[in-house]
Amino acid sequence: MRCLKISHVSIVLTFCLFASAQKTRSNAKKQLFNDLWPEWTVSPRKPGMTLAAAIIVAGGKGTRSGRAGPKQFETLLGRQVLDWSIEAFREHPQVGLIVVVASVGGETERGGEGVVWVPGGPSRTQSVRNGLAVLDLPPDTPVLIHDAARPGLSQMIISSLLKAMDGADAVAPALPVSDALKTSLEGKLLTVPRDGLFRVQTPQAFRLGAIRSALDAAGADLVDDLAAMEATGARVELIAGDERLHKITFPEDFDMVARLLSPVCAIPRIGKGFDVHAFEPGDHVTLCGVAIAHDAKLKGHSDADAAWHALTDAILGAVALGDIGDHFPPSDERWKNADSAIFLKESVRLAEAEGYAVSSCDITVICEAPKVKPHREAMRIRTAELLGLALSAVSVKATTTEGLGFTGRREGIAAEAIAVLVPLVAAR
Ligand code: MG
Repeated sequence: MRCLKISHVSIVLTFCLFASAQKTRSNAKKQLFNDLWPEWTVSPRKPGMTLAAAIIVAGGKGTRSGRAGPKQFETLLGRQVLDWSIEAFREHPQVGLIVVVASVGGETERGGEGVVWVPGGPSRTQSVRNGLAVLDLPPDTPVLIHDAARPGLSQMIISSLLKAMDGADAVAPALPVSDALKTSLEGKLLTVPRDGLFRVQTPQAFRLGAIRSALDAAGADLVDDLAAMEATGARVELIAGDERLHKITFPEDFDMVARLLSPVCAIPRIGKGFDVHAFEPGDHVTLCGVAIAHDAKLKGHSDADAAWHALTDAILGAVALGDIGDHFPPSDERWKNADSAIFLKESVRLAEAEGYAVSSCDITVICEAPKVKPHREAMRIRTAELLGLALSAVSVKATTTEGLGFTGRREGIAAEAIAVLVPLVAAR
């Protein structure tokens, strides 16, 4: 992930302060962490891996969200807003401990193993301090501080933050500002240059000792934790942020974030095709690219493969691109005696250009003779190979019309096909 270096001023980390502070912590608290996460100090989940701690700030009242209670405890797509972040951190192999800072009581039993609940403070900054205070860990432990109101936390963002911490004192996800910015000065609207401006998100990553020291020195309530580190001249890096980390602030944000976090809805497209070819003197017919011995052949400009012609029409129909005659007119000499694989492949290419891939198909051949059943598997295999589908996604069936109609009189062969196409995003 692209990293944007903001400054390279070294920070002198006052580790000695934390070392002495750690000595004063109670053995009881150490036991608490060992009980919660026994492998924390003795066996990292991967050899050589430094486990990180996560602090989720969930102490706010969220008065602008339009909800009766705090927004972080509202339901979003079936689970609490806060739980989205807890789950994201819990799933990450490098996160060993999660601290939730919340003012709401009765929550201490939630969250499961490795999740500690501590009371929030009167301000966001104080809540973060409360969370940091319970971390009885080495001062160089990476700490990710995250707002519970940003439920769209991905594993990639966590990994990228921790990786970037190798060469920085603080890392945060950020997005460039794309909207025009204006400010009102004495009733006059002025344009603010947006070059070099970023929207900074959370989680923000730090070393435990450094952020604890910076926040102790900062004093006042800060807009975020990075602000405390900036004042120390620390090396701060920004990594590419994620629109899904949008912060829930206003009532409409619930719907927006729900849309961002919803799985891609792959609505399929379905097409139907039908084709008929008459018999003429010959010794075989071609169906689904397979030559089948018969006492006649199918009459047509191309190889007269009625099954694949029907399938080609089904695919074209699913993406509303006309029919086989539009793309391969019989009047065109190029298609004389042509292999119908050409038509089928072209219909697949055209569908893909529209953003759709064939996901399954069902072909029915209608005739009295030749007997199709002995050749059905070969026809399925040939079609599956051409479409690049699993054999289980390709169906070939055969039926008669009980002696009725032109197929019953053995004058020719009819074929029907249905093709299901899905958006390429879902198919891959
Ligand atoms: Mg045809």
